[in-house]
Amino acid sequence: MTDFRSDTVTRPSREMRAAMLAAPVGDDVFGDDPSVNQLEQLLAEGLGFEAGLFAPSGTQSNLMGIMSQCARGDELIVGQGAHTYRWEGGGVAVLGSIQPQPLDNAADGSIPLDRVLAAIKPDDPHFARTRMLALENTIQGKVLTTAYLDQARELVRQAGLRFHLDGARLFNAAAYQAAIHNDKPDHAQVMAAARQICKGFDSVSVCLSKGLGAPVGSVLLGSGETIRAARRVRKMLGGGMRQAGVLAAAGQYALSSNLVRLLDDHRLAHRLASGLSEMVAASGKAEEIQIETPQTNMVFVTLAADPGELICQGLKAAGIGFTGGSAGAGRIRQRWVTHLDVTDADVDRVLENWQALLNK
Ligand SMILES: *Cc1c(COP(=O)(O)O)cnc(C)c1O
Repeated sequence: MTDFRSDTVTRPSREMRAAMLAAPVGDDVFGDDPSVNQLEQLLAEGLGFEAGLFAPSGTQSNLMGIMSQCARGDELIVGQGAHTYRWEGGGVAVLGSIQPQPLDNAADGSIPLDRVLAAIKPDDPHFARTRMLALENTIQGKVLTTAYLDQARELVRQAGLRFHLDGARLFNAAAYQAAIHNDKPDHAQVMAAARQICKGFDSVSVCLSKGLGAPVGSVLLGSGETIRAARRVRKMLGGGMRQAGVLAAAGQYALSSNLVRLLDDHRLAHRLASGLSEMVAASGKAEEIQIETPQTNMVFVTLAADPGELICQGLKAAGIGFTGGSAGAGRIRQRWVTHLDVTDADVDRVLENWQALLNK
């Protein structure tokens, strides 16, 4: 199968497996695993935080960040489309007794700050205590602008809120930002861009298992105090792992080898989108099929049910993987994600199949 469903489908390379095999390990619940400690320190230093904490998943790492800073009866302002609100089983409410206050995301992925300000509750026993603002970057493949992040930092500072970033794809955002100034940024430049994005956040969760290509793992970054509190939350959630160094070594390998190449994924997404756009324009079906221009590694296509349903069936029958579903109003929305294990030849194959289906 040519698999564009998600950047989580990558398999660890031979070199990554060799790094896992060679990793020194210890009992990480005792703080004894040198590979885990090294990974946490590497990311904390790179991103400008005091400490880091390794977790088995991004869902757990987000929960650790939010639950270590919000108490029962506190409120979290979060995007309606955010992973922490929509895709994590309601964990902050179920496990943290934290009330989410979701707000609609704008088309660029941001949460308009006038809406955030209006949603902050006064100190009054009728209301939950507004405690935190959580953003996501990238969000559905979109990069939050530097100007927006500056304004959001100022808002949380003035309002005295905690500030969490779901940076599952932080390095996709960083690679994008670094490439604005420089066609071919190097590792240090991408890391510096990531550090700049993280500025002002009290906690940041980063996934190693998305575009970076590790099989498992996320890291939460924060102050020493936040990470100490997060360690208790991790234990409570069942995320205290023992000789986790074999996993952390994969993460270290991913960080040192796969940061800059995220731009290859962005290039492939761009090729896919522009190829599709040209093809659809030439077929006269631009009304029925719309393709969004990607910033990073995700391409979204919205199709009218006719011809969308037949196109989706045809692609699936050809063994081409993507995700998709109803977008309401009789329309279908497809998501195509590029990653480490797809190539130019895979994009060619997708474009050929689309062409054949459009010609039908
Ligand atoms: C994947 C993802 C997470 C974490 O997911 P896990 O599958 O729990 O690792 C969190 N936020 C975003 C935006 C994600 O894409």
